[in-house]
Amino acid sequence: SDSHFLVPISPAHFENDCTAHFPKFFPNGSKKIEFADIGCGFGGLLISLATLFPDTLMIGMELRDKVTEYVKERILALRASSPGRYDNVSVVRTNSMKYIPNYFEKAQLTKMFFLFPDPHFKEKNHRRRVISPHLLDEYAYVLKVDGIIYTISDVEELGAWMKGCLDDHELFEPLTEEELAADPVVELLSTATEEGQKVARNEGQTFRAVYRRIASARPR
Ligand code: SAM
Repeated sequence: SDSHFLVPISPAHFENDCTAHFPKFFPNGSKKIEFADIGCGFGGLLISLATLFPDTLMIGMELRDKVTEYVKERILALRASSPGRYDNVSVVRTNSMKYIPNYFEKAQLTKMFFLFPDPHFKEKNHRRRVISPHLLDEYAYVLKVDGIIYTISDVEELGAWMKGCLDDHELFEPLTEEELAADPVVELLSTATEEGQKVARNEGQTFRAVYRRIASARPR
């Protein structure tokens, strides 16, 4: 299915596309995208973040064509009904596991979200998980120092896996309880996403791991 969408050959090329993604912000500004919601699904988190951070550009990355189209329509409808709002949010159809470095340059992002990703239970499929030791190298590359990676799952095993990968990575450290409590985004992880709302309706548990990109390798 990868053959059905175009991938920019470099972040600079993708920046040219940003005129179409964020017409109200371009061509005047040379503002860069700072937040990426990976596997954004129906876009609930982005919609909440857009008004919480009105001056920050953010994008969802979603593999499914129909879901991506739905999010596009949703954003256009919101822009039409609330002029001046939602101009900072967009979505792109892509395979984030293959193409993150095509979209973002080194140290560009300040937040990345991996909310309720697919669990891929079988051991032989663990390499298809969106958080892995290898992919964390890429995420560390595109994140700014002090940038934050947010992960959450209702699958205990996957939650532990994501936390384990982050704990093992020398360029990430966990936020403290105080920092988690002070960050307004943390609450949205389970309340703003469609998947999180489903889990809440079923009174299910969630497992969260929120880590900061640090400047140099920490001793382990
Ligand atoms: N984050 C959303 C939420 O919390 O409501 C959606 C969660 S949904 C269970 C996982 C999403 O990740 C699906 O929409 C799926 O299509 C998308 N996805 C899976 N693999 C992907 C990939 N390699 N690149 C981009 N999106 C992907």
